[in-house]
Amino acid sequence: MRDVTAVSSASSAPAGTAVEEKEAPVQDDAAGYYTLGDPISDAKAPRGPIDQRWTQRIFDARLVNPANRRKLSIIVVGTGLAGASAAATLGEAGYRVQAFFYQDSPRRAHSIAAQGGINAAKNYKGDGDSIHRLFYDTVKGGDYRSRESNVYRLAEVSANIIDQCVAQGVPFAREYGGLLDNRSFGGVQVSRTFYARGQTGQQLLIGAYQAMERQVAAGTVTPYARHEMLELIVVDGKARGIVTRDMVSGAIETHLADAVVLASGGYGNVFFLSTNAMGSNVTASWRAHRKGAFFANPCYTQIHPTCIPVSGEHQSKLTLMSESLRNDGRIWVPKRAEDCDKDPRDIPEEDRDYYLERIYPSFGNLVPRDIASRQAKNMCDEGRGVGPMVGDKRRGVYLDFAEAIQRLGRSAVEAKYGNLFDMYSRITGEDPYQVPMRIYPAVHYTMGGLWVDYDLQSTIPGLFVIGEANFSDHGANRLGASALMQGLADGYFVLPNTIRDYLADGPFPAVAPDAPEVVEARADVEDRVQRLLSINGSRTVDSFHRELGHIMWEYCGMERTAEGLRTAIERIRALREEFWRDVRVLGTGDSLNQSLEKAGRVADFLELGELMCIDALHRRESCGGHFRAESQTPDGEALRDDANFAYVGAWEWGGDPSAPVLHKEDLVYEFVEMKQRSYK
Ligand SMILES: Cc1cc2nc3c(=O)[nH]c(=O)nc-3n(C[C@H](O)[C@H](O)[C@H](O)COP(=O)(O)OP(=O)(O)OC[C@H]3O[C@@H](n4cnc5c(N)ncnc54)[C@H](O)[C@@H]3O)c2cc1C
Repeated sequence: MRDVTAVSSASSAPAGTAVEEKEAPVQDDAAGYYTLGDPISDAKAPRGPIDQRWTQRIFDARLVNPANRRKLSIIVVGTGLAGASAAATLGEAGYRVQAFFYQDSPRRAHSIAAQGGINAAKNYKGDGDSIHRLFYDTVKGGDYRSRESNVYRLAEVSANIIDQCVAQGVPFAREYGGLLDNRSFGGVQVSRTFYARGQTGQQLLIGAYQAMERQVAAGTVTPYARHEMLELIVVDGKARGIVTRDMVSGAIETHLADAVVLASGGYGNVFFLSTNAMGSNVTASWRAHRKGAFFANPCYTQIHPTCIPVSGEHQSKLTLMSESLRNDGRIWVPKRAEDCDKDPRDIPEEDRDYYLERIYPSFGNLVPRDIASRQAKNMCDEGRGVGPMVGDKRRGVYLDFAEAIQRLGRSAVEAKYGNLFDMYSRITGEDPYQVPMRIYPAVHYTMGGLWVDYDLQSTIPGLFVIGEANFSDHGANRLGASALMQGLADGYFVLPNTIRDYLADGPFPAVAPDAPEVVEARADVEDRVQRLLSINGSRTVDSFHRELGHIMWEYCGMERTAEGLRTAIERIRALREEFWRDVRVLGTGDSLNQSLEKAGRVADFLELGELMCIDALHRRESCGGHFRAESQTPDGEALRDDANFAYVGAWEWGGDPSAPVLHKEDLVYEFVEMKQRSYK
């Protein structure tokens, strides 16, 4: 494992930090659940003016000459936006790339679902946007829990992404005059979101996929469809390969390379119900974590405010209604609980509470997601939710387009949001042009992920992590339209410039297929598959997953308490024990077997879930997507504790899911002043 703890956080902190002196140690709610390791430092970001750090790093990172690139091989796991853009760019540069994904085509990656748009600091609207403003909005939106250097780089690179995608032919929406159009997303007061109707992810993915396919045709990228990574191979402390299962034939294979890049997406499906694709999972990251990669801020989960509400126990998936709808849709609930079961069209204006516009007049319906979600929950908890009763409460609020249709005309609304309206109407049977949509928050995105340094390298040398799979640049809350930006920034621009510094040490000694580390990793996968198949218990994999999801949502969802989190940890431990005793995995290992695939993923979720709860328990503050009931302002807003928690919590595998080791990376703010966030 790389010694990232060598430079103490104190010595790495440049002057000008806004973090206060530490006061008396805060009460540690998680004492006994973890041990404390050495602090860590990300020493890769150059010092100096923030707008020159990335240029400096590009220059400092060593080069690999084109002839030598052909001798170096890179495994990329995942071909969503992050992985496909990385594979295409690394292939184009001349490296030998092997790209793995579990779908039948890269075009089916979860990235295809992204609807609303992608941010970039182009200032096309001339409304005061700039790289610095995008940087500032993102640091503030993330509730001051992200790294300044990374976020600045993201803002800087954002404009290049749009140019790259336009050159590829991505059909971004255009204004009447032919210029690229923009719309607004939450947490900002400018319009910087580029979009392709409600299908931005799909169009961007087609661009990245085509760029990758060009390299497939050129022979630099070899795709491995329907291959699931089930283990990382580490030789002499370096990432040198992966073990996969061919999901069609069941064959367990080893693949070796000089470096490994994980672009395997987020882990929101630990909650069972989420807006993520059904196959999204944590397995690739978790296997790497167990081999020594730190997992950072696992408890930071984004709960998106505009999803179609849960309709019953039968459901296995939730559907997002894009945040872009909040540009024109107005969110409200009835002022009086007794009006909640009325037809909304019969409730007059004066009896409606447009609560976001009332509480946050500056940002109104475009407050960040964490705030909009929490307020929707508050309204429902007050008994003013709408729609059918779920348990003892109505869990829904209105998203109303009546005013927009009157102002813009139905055809203009249809042109902007038509496919989203159609989707809503197909799922709910209601016509949103006539009746307000009903929405409720749902799990959507995970800000946590594998810890990476400024070079996007994990704590295992040679293992790089990009896209939603890393703990990324979003702090405790991601602003809308920033995930696509980060995934493509990582894949097209950042990783290709940083991985070469590592590869410049090559050529690396060849790893023999029968090296002990390779044989052992492969045997571990085979044993695990056999173990899952042989339990032959009485409960389905889905029933375990659903129960885990209930626990996570109840205790580690929109609001968390110390008592609830301790309960969750105990229940997850018991559930995990029961899983390995009583799960029933159907079929055999030598063919297509979805029950087996799911079982492996749920087994990893059962370990991750505990770490998420321990992380949430130890962080006795509220920040972004992590709301601790014990830490709130008198008016119920999230209350951060910068004196004690202005750090990244990076967890090391301690040999057992219940024995994690915490390493803290202090966050230093030199260019943005840390303040209590206000969108009022
Ligand atoms: C409904 C929805 C709408 C969204 N809309 C927006 C939006 O408008 N704007 C925005 O910025 N963000 C949006 N997001 C978030 C954004 O789409 C994702 O964060 C982003 O697409 C993730 O990209 P990725 O490349 O990191 O991962 P993914 O697209 O999730 O790709 C993961 C890849 O890894 C592969 N993989 C995973 N595990 C394994 C394994 N073990 N072995 C082999 N392969 C593996 C998969 O096959 C896949 O190719 C939205 C998310 C959702 C759910």
